[in-house]
Amino acid sequence: MSDSSTNGKIRIVKIHDGTVIDHIRAGKALEVLKILGITGKEGNVVTLAMNISSPRIGSKDIVKVENRDIAAPEVARIALVAPEATINLIKGSKVIKKTRVELPDAITGVVVCTNPRCITNKEREPIQPKYQVTSKNPIQLKCLYCWTHIEEEDIISQFTT
Ligand SMILES: [Zn+2]
Repeated sequence: MSDSSTNGKIRIVKIHDGTVIDHIRAGKALEVLKILGITGKEGNVVTLAMNISSPRIGSKDIVKVENRDIAAPEVARIALVAPEATINLIKGSKVIKKTRVELPDAITGVVVCTNPRCITNKEREPIQPKYQVTSKNPIQLKCLYCWTHIEEEDIISQFTT
């Protein structure tokens, strides 16, 4: 196929009911699938497109999952892997809800502090970890209790293992 015939056109199967996660940072679609616990063995149709040109974020991935909603805790995790993502809920082939994922400047919970001696990792202390988002690309967090920096790879490995 020549460039002109594919230019600007994305041909991906439309889904009837399910979720489309668009504007995932290029190369992060597999992490998003892992966050959702999708292995491909569930039997529902999963469509994956990677490295598609996007006016908004340069290059993006798209994930489409049939017969699957995305729960709020999953959205919070996706925000730390794909902060520009949009989540479209599809029913009867129509978008009935569009959510733009947001990565706030500070987050509570979601991620475990990588410092084992951090007070938030002490079982007897009922303290929820809190982080300042110090960088959004690549993502980096700073624990507000022990000032440990948590890198994107650490966050992804917590979500995908
Ligand atoms: Zn900490």
